[in-house]
Amino acid sequence: MVYKSFYEFGISDKVLVALSDMGFEEPTPIQKLTIPPALQKKDIIGQAQTGTGKTAAFGIPLIEQRPEVSGKYPYAIVLAPTRELAVQVSAEINKIGLRAGAAALPVYGGQSIELQIRSLKRGVGIVVGTPGRVIDHIHRKTLVLKEIKTVVLDEADEMLNMGFIDDIEEILGETPKGRQTMLFSATMPKEIIRIAKNYMEKPVHLTVDAGEMVVAKIKQVFYEVREEGKLNALTRLLDVEGPSLTLVFCHTKREVDEVSGKLRQMGYPAGAIHGDFTQSHRDEMIRAFKKGDIDILVATDVAARGLDIPDVSHVINFSIPQDPQGYIHRIGRTGRAGKSGIAITLVSPRQYRQLRLIEQSAKTSIKRGSLPTKEQVRQAKEEELAGSLAELIKEGKHTSFYPLTNRLFLKHSPEDVAAAALSMLSGQGAMEETTEPETYGGDKKDKDSVRLFMTIGKLDKIMVGDIVKSISAEAGIPAQNIRNIAVFDRFSFVEVPSNLADKVILAINDSVMKGKKVRIQHARKRENGKGRGH
Ligand code: ADP
Ligand code: MG
Repeated sequence: MVYKSFYEFGISDKVLVALSDMGFEEPTPIQKLTIPPALQKKDIIGQAQTGTGKTAAFGIPLIEQRPEVSGKYPYAIVLAPTRELAVQVSAEINKIGLRAGAAALPVYGGQSIELQIRSLKRGVGIVVGTPGRVIDHIHRKTLVLKEIKTVVLDEADEMLNMGFIDDIEEILGETPKGRQTMLFSATMPKEIIRIAKNYMEKPVHLTVDAGEMVVAKIKQVFYEVREEGKLNALTRLLDVEGPSLTLVFCHTKREVDEVSGKLRQMGYPAGAIHGDFTQSHRDEMIRAFKKGDIDILVATDVAARGLDIPDVSHVINFSIPQDPQGYIHRIGRTGRAGKSGIAITLVSPRQYRQLRLIEQSAKTSIKRGSLPTKEQVRQAKEEELAGSLAELIKEGKHTSFYPLTNRLFLKHSPEDVAAAALSMLSGQGAMEETTEPETYGGDKKDKDSVRLFMTIGKLDKIMVGDIVKSISAEAGIPAQNIRNIAVFDRFSFVEVPSNLADKVILAINDSVMKGKKVRIQHARKRENGKGRGH
């Protein structure tokens, strides 16, 4: 696969930073296909399954096309079939547009129309609405479409199924002639093709195909849990399944940091890899994983790709993969060489449909499982404890405690002594012992870190990895302490723990990178002191 990062699209720095804030590491296949022609204002028909990142595929170009001076009326309108989707799409666009100052307003039935009218009056660049409510506003003249530059029809086939076809045609008729039209749909029924013919000009047709996929003999299970319950579900599964080596996949770098950090806090030896870490750090992680120093590795797809990860007993999709290929890719890390493997996927109720789509296109079967109960977790922990004790006794490593036990037996029954010892053990003892939280990966929270500004950037051909390597080597600090690196044309930002900032500045300031003298200083803060400042 050709690597294509977001900045190769030539989109603005503010949007790049926002995407990095969102933890997007690289564009998804549909984004790679869609963003370039969309930026050229071409009409587009995009076909890809749910969960493939279509929102950002059109959202990024929409934000990039924001007018320099905001007009009186919206410059873009997105039509979506349901209120939930309108809200979701609008929220995602707002995240992407946050730093660029582009905003979207969701407009849907069921919410007070007065409220929407007031917001529309205040002025908004991008309207995301359900067709019915949009028509309502058009009729009330509270939504004027004469400055529209781009129309997006999201989930066009769904809108069709819901009987919105006339509304859509009416809305399209209200928008100016030379506008750009983007249409996204999972399927291409005749009606959609007719709309494309009548309302689009030489549309580029882009498809991401699931293709033929073969799944090895891997036991595949999914558990339906709410987003907030995922971590709890994960630890229960780890406790009960007792996996040897587990690979946990997350969607974003931030999620990797969070999940691995929390696991370590709870005493699970978990490492992390994602795109912000240097190659050498990643290699080191893999070595530790292979040796069993850590038996859980939390990763993004990108970081895990192309790495020589050993055969693992369990692959756990903490977040559902983007597409069927992604799913196949991930679960293929287990069950190699005839060994049995287990692939577990955690899905929120919202993602259930997406899971079924993955199942269909990957031509596989993923069975629903029910999460282990607390009682099962307790039993599993007891089993493990009993196993460790038996082993200890077999190895005879406990005999030095005989004098103590004999003394205790004078006062207490052997049963009480043993039970008390076990309770101590499972309280703060070996079972719950926490590993050093800072050993692997960057789980440091932002508040302990500061953002530094450096005068070197893309145009100097510097890359994230180079920056990490230089700082790590020059200042003598571990690579995983260097985080949230954002490289722009002429400058970059990096985050380091506050207590190391001076060391980094001293080591890097006036040093030479890529043949260029670099200055480094604290990044300027925004007035409210909360912003990361730039
Ligand atoms: P679709 O519209 O194709 O169903 P969405 O746009 O809703 O898919 O995206 C699904 C999920 O993937 C969202 O949570 C979104 O934030 C996330 N996502 C989109 N693009 C990326 C990316 N490049 N990297 C990581 N996550 C992404
Ligand atoms: Mg969508």
